[in-house]
Amino acid sequence: MVKTLEPVCGNIPEPDTFDVFHNKRVFIETYGCRYNFGDTAKLVEILKYKGSILVDSAKEAEAIIINTCTVVGTTERRMMRRLSRYREYDLYVTGCMPAVQREAIFAVCTPKIILSETIREAYRSIGTVAGKGVAIVQTAQGCCGRCTYCLTRFARGPLKSFTEKEILGEIFAHAHAGTSEIQITAQDMSSWGQDIGKSLPFLLKRIDDLPGEFMIRVGMMNPALIKGMLDDLIEGFASDHIFKFVHIPVQSGSDAVLDRMGRGYSVADFDEIVTAFRKRYPEITLATDMIVGFPGETQEEFSQSLDLIERVRPNKVNITRYSRRPFTPLFTVKDCPEWIKKDRSRIMNTLAEKVYASINAGVLEKEVPFLVTETLKEGSVMARSPNYLGIVINENLPVGYEGRGILKKERKYFFIGKRVI
Ligand code: SF4
Repeated sequence: MVKTLEPVCGNIPEPDTFDVFHNKRVFIETYGCRYNFGDTAKLVEILKYKGSILVDSAKEAEAIIINTCTVVGTTERRMMRRLSRYREYDLYVTGCMPAVQREAIFAVCTPKIILSETIREAYRSIGTVAGKGVAIVQTAQGCCGRCTYCLTRFARGPLKSFTEKEILGEIFAHAHAGTSEIQITAQDMSSWGQDIGKSLPFLLKRIDDLPGEFMIRVGMMNPALIKGMLDDLIEGFASDHIFKFVHIPVQSGSDAVLDRMGRGYSVADFDEIVTAFRKRYPEITLATDMIVGFPGETQEEFSQSLDLIERVRPNKVNITRYSRRPFTPLFTVKDCPEWIKKDRSRIMNTLAEKVYASINAGVLEKEVPFLVTETLKEGSVMARSPNYLGIVINENLPVGYEGRGILKKERKYFFIGKRVI
């Protein structure tokens, strides 16, 4: 029996209830996607404004905020362990779990719930930014998808695009506070504007018009919506403000599986999208996602996913073992045995790493321009090339420094670089 969702009630703090954190030592623990980390970045600004003391461990804290993720079963179980561990504390919970698994939360602790919308509302009147490291700008909550395995769409609800004024305002604030890399994110970036008569290419054009020295990394985009805006989207990426990097989750190499997933596109659509981006930006970096062990996934269907990785040669594949999620249409559908999921993710990871090694070998000793986006530690920084290759340079260079360097060693997802200028 699929349980219906009850609205979250009781314990919801009024918008200014962040006052309770005044003069308190607060520890924030964050899990999940860039969107969640975007909420935490806003929470930090709100708490600073409210006179809280942010501490780095639960031991030092008087109050704890857990920003939860429940995208897969293993993460949910981890959240439950953290919640029960902190049940004696002055505990607050935000993120996706309160919206879909409130009962489970209250079975192990009695926290106060902070909704993502409450954070957004409170942050609006503050608007300060950290001004260091990589910044996150959220562009919308929810999505237009109907993916049959996804709990996030129930947690985040129907698409609600934030206004371009708000988005551009945040980007401008980060850029002028000295941040050089800004990640624009949502559950599905390609859905931005669909509910307000606009679209992502329009937003990228507006970002291109913004003054200042900054680079944008565009978050994940569902091929189902990219199909209808491909040429304009590719044009939107021409901006000198935008890294030539795309994250397009394909999820499977089998049309039959994509159909059972309710993804709304075919493998041929995905191939066409990647080919078109590569035609315009030959060195573009491609990240994608794959789910292995989807209910009913045959050996043949799994092989089609491996074939896609061999054919498309992505720079990064985020591999997830299918996990049955409550409230989703597939919750009661028989699952693949765990050993099959484990085996398939191991096989796919081995193949993907072979692909990374051969791609990276092709650019070793190459000289590329770079932008320093983050200080890693004393004497070491992370820099990014225009196509978002990660380059660790072991020097004290300021964020925003632009130079050229040689890719000396590869470390699967990034390079060790040697600066030439
Ligand atoms: S696009 Fe699909 S997978 Fe992504 S958040 Fe929406 S429903 Fe979930």
